[in-house]
Amino acid sequence: MNPLLLTTLPTRELLFGVEDSVVLTFHYVLFVLAAIVFLVGAYKWYRFISTGRRDEERLDNLGSRIWLMLKDGFAFVRLYVREAKMGIMHILILWGFILLTIGTIVLTIADHTPFEFFKGTFYLIHEFLMDSAGVAFLLGLAIAIANRYGLKPSRFKKKWEKANDDGLVLILLVVIGILGFLVEGMRIAIGMDAYTAYIGALLGRILPWGLGTYRFLWSAHSILALIFIALIPFTKLAHVIAAPLNILTRSNRHPGVARGIEDEEYMGAIEVKDLQWRDLLSSLACMRCGRCQDACPATNSNTTLSPMHLMQNLRYLGNTAFGMLGMRGNLKEGQDTMLLDNVLDMEAVWACTTCRACMEMCPVYIEQMEIIQEMRRGVVESGEAPPDIRDLLTNITKQRNPWGEAKYKRDAWAKDVGVPKVKDNPEFEWLWWVGCAHSFDNRNKPIAVKIAQILEELGINYATLGREEGCCGNDVRRVGEEGLFQMLKEENETAFQKYGVERIIATSPHCFNTFKNEYEGYNVKFLLEVIYEAIKDGRIKFKKPINRKVTFHDPCYLGRYNGMYELPREILKAIPGIELVEMPRNREKSFCCGAGGGNLVREYPGDDRPNNIRAREAAETGADVLAVACPFCMIMLEDGVKSVGVDDRLQVLDVIELVWESAFSEE
Ligand code: SF4
Ligand code: SF4
Repeated sequence: MNPLLLTTLPTRELLFGVEDSVVLTFHYVLFVLAAIVFLVGAYKWYRFISTGRRDEERLDNLGSRIWLMLKDGFAFVRLYVREAKMGIMHILILWGFILLTIGTIVLTIADHTPFEFFKGTFYLIHEFLMDSAGVAFLLGLAIAIANRYGLKPSRFKKKWEKANDDGLVLILLVVIGILGFLVEGMRIAIGMDAYTAYIGALLGRILPWGLGTYRFLWSAHSILALIFIALIPFTKLAHVIAAPLNILTRSNRHPGVARGIEDEEYMGAIEVKDLQWRDLLSSLACMRCGRCQDACPATNSNTTLSPMHLMQNLRYLGNTAFGMLGMRGNLKEGQDTMLLDNVLDMEAVWACTTCRACMEMCPVYIEQMEIIQEMRRGVVESGEAPPDIRDLLTNITKQRNPWGEAKYKRDAWAKDVGVPKVKDNPEFEWLWWVGCAHSFDNRNKPIAVKIAQILEELGINYATLGREEGCCGNDVRRVGEEGLFQMLKEENETAFQKYGVERIIATSPHCFNTFKNEYEGYNVKFLLEVIYEAIKDGRIKFKKPINRKVTFHDPCYLGRYNGMYELPREILKAIPGIELVEMPRNREKSFCCGAGGGNLVREYPGDDRPNNIRAREAAETGADVLAVACPFCMIMLEDGVKSVGVDDRLQVLDVIELVWESAFSEE
């Protein structure tokens, strides 16, 4: 190319004003120091993460994992669909930062290589993109600051007391961004930059020019950027690296399947090293956004449990065990790495209702609930479970139901109904698994009678196990008694084999989830699926209008565990007269009734129980019926509406009762 033409192309002097070798050498030394500090911190966390177990496949189907990481870790789709403003904020900050970093690397290459590409159109576009990236970066930070310190959404309410770097990180980034523009503005003030650097051009008109000030600002910008790099492993900034890796390694298990136990010697999570390595990585990926605790019934009930604190405490424990720079031995050398009381206290371990809301809400797929379940296994195995959990396990062991009702009473509800048993109807097609709540609880027993009548009316060839029915094992597994769960499973499978059971209709979402996802080889339907099919093919015809305003409460084990959100609503909408209204927290955001994970039969800790909170939410919709599709929810919410004093205007009814009333009632 004509060298004269080259000189006429727009460009600028690289490293203008700081080409002085002393200044540059100082910054190169600082860069090496920042890189060393970063690597020391990263190595500490690598050693921390390496102490975890390797039980679960976390890198299979790599293609789809990488796609998920790009989608949710870099494009923030999961966050955007739930909270558009926060999704945009993250995109602005991350992509602004990435573009600025790439632009700086390009400058470095241009300055340190003989290639003369930093001129003409390339140069003009580069300057434009750098300014645009800077604007995006600062705009994103402004939204973050306004949200955290101005709007203060409820998710920030329960703070993690040891956190002291939230403000520091934001201020550091803002100052780096502003300094970048000031440096550019000063350069332009003496005609040393392009018009496409539009923010710099604007500043260049108003900033006073002075080489000393310029050098000071350039150095401050550079030093702060290097401090930022060095701080990444030591602050919440670690999530910038850990969060995409955490998304990459999310579990591919079905949501309804609890973590299995691969190692026979594993007794549950007692120390940090008993957790999976991915759980330890997750503790770095957690950016204290508070979304999990905002959705958590235990946190909302003011118990000591916060899934966010769990993750932060775990990271803190690793930090303490290894020392700030990772020089202090390792986790296998008898340091205090016990999980109980260090990451969760006893109340918190048992306050979890296993609702999965934390996992559903977490933008980076952290498995808080599964860590709690691992800890429960550890507590149960250590013989330290609280008395009410021990009672629950004893009741199920002896009588196969959580209340300890005598086994022989299991089929008493059906004595006047003529429900067929497997021995009476050996040619049955479907086994109706009645479940403990429908068999023993007084509010649910009449619903079981209506279910029997509906199955009869629909001409379904079914039978029950009668007194031979036991416990599916759902709660047992969720409170951490894996051995008893396996025993119950084996016992039930033996009975299924004996009577040739291949298809199961379940009437509790808890039993449904367990048979469908944690037993193998059965065709399992939830009762409402059977009802829905019958409505569709005309076997159920609604006769009587139900002129009531109804709000539906999603059961966790139906919704978040099995993705069944619309089907119960479709049934309710099919009933003439019903006006369906939604609570603000519905579908995957639904708020748990508080019964799961063994809490149905416990005195729940905290000063505002989940069922009371949910009953108030339902009453606020103005509905006069709170419809449920789970016998546990029925028990909890009936209690809730009474406790908060809205039972005179809000009736809790099972969807089945509404179907029966409209289609089968003779009155
Ligand atoms: S599963 Fe539910 S109760 Fe348990 S920690 Fe998560 S949100 Fe809280
Ligand atoms: S665990 Fe997830 S949802 Fe909870 S604070 Fe951390 S990043 Fe946010």
